[in-house]
Amino acid sequence: MKVIHSPDELQEVAISYKNEGKTIGFVPTMGFLHEGHEKLIEEARKENDIVLLSIFVNPLQFGPHDDLDHYPRDEQHDRKVASRLGVDLLFHPDVESMYPHEPAIKLTVIRRTDVLCGRSRPGHFDGVVTVLAKLFHLGLPTRVYFGMKDAQQVAVVDGLIKDFHFPVELVPVPTVREPDGLAKSSRNVNLSAAERKEAPFIHKGLVHGKVLIQDGCRNPEKVNNAVKSFIEKHTHGKIDYIEILSYPELESVASIKGRIILAAAVKFNKARLIDNLVMEAGD
Ligand code: AMP
Repeated sequence: MKVIHSPDELQEVAISYKNEGKTIGFVPTMGFLHEGHEKLIEEARKENDIVLLSIFVNPLQFGPHDDLDHYPRDEQHDRKVASRLGVDLLFHPDVESMYPHEPAIKLTVIRRTDVLCGRSRPGHFDGVVTVLAKLFHLGLPTRVYFGMKDAQQVAVVDGLIKDFHFPVELVPVPTVREPDGLAKSSRNVNLSAAERKEAPFIHKGLVHGKVLIQDGCRNPEKVNNAVKSFIEKHTHGKIDYIEILSYPELESVASIKGRIILAAAVKFNKARLIDNLVMEAGD
């Protein structure tokens, strides 16, 4: 495994692989790798000649009240995981090399962003697409792998790739969960022992909502309220949102039908957790 810190060096290496006709599977992450990330890397390993993993805690996507300073990091562990899973290129730049000067151009997401996490994190997805545009130009991926745990991110990246004609295929990967249903997340380590016991009820609440939909409930407000009550009953977390939207357009629906996302964000003391279910709700 080759570890690269310099953006220019990554681009040179990627160009030479592309000139050899090799496919590059790219997994962008912020590190502190867990089984969710591992699944993405494994998928990339199966489908590409070269696997590129990036680890970069991108300050641009954190707001002033976000947890940038508390974001967990473990470089040694991440290197071991990457090497065990057969990553060829580990790109680990520092902030100065990714943002060496004041930018002249800013990317702004104008759709799929004023809902779910985008609503309470203004500028978050602008930061995400900005760093991804840079990373796509540096790593020249054939395919890029994202987790459905961050389903809004998948929807926004779908827009980025289509709007800017990036020659890259988006591969969404299903959410990897703990045995009790909690979605794996780097932020789970910031839960207290009591909160960790309550956190799986976010997923259970979403499943409760899904069952209502499968039983024929078409009223989004009814389902949202049922999920909200369920989560409030079983956790001390503060609900940031429970939403049902069309997917991937992320538009509100008067009646539940077609492909939809049922998503939740719950704030605990030192961790804000998100989870979702995307489903076909029928006609
Ligand atoms: P992050 O390091 O949190 O930016 O995540 C990097 C990538 O891993 C993103 O595409 C996430 O959606 C994905 N990811 C994070 N947690 C999970 C999970 N539990 N299952 C599947 N993918 C995940």
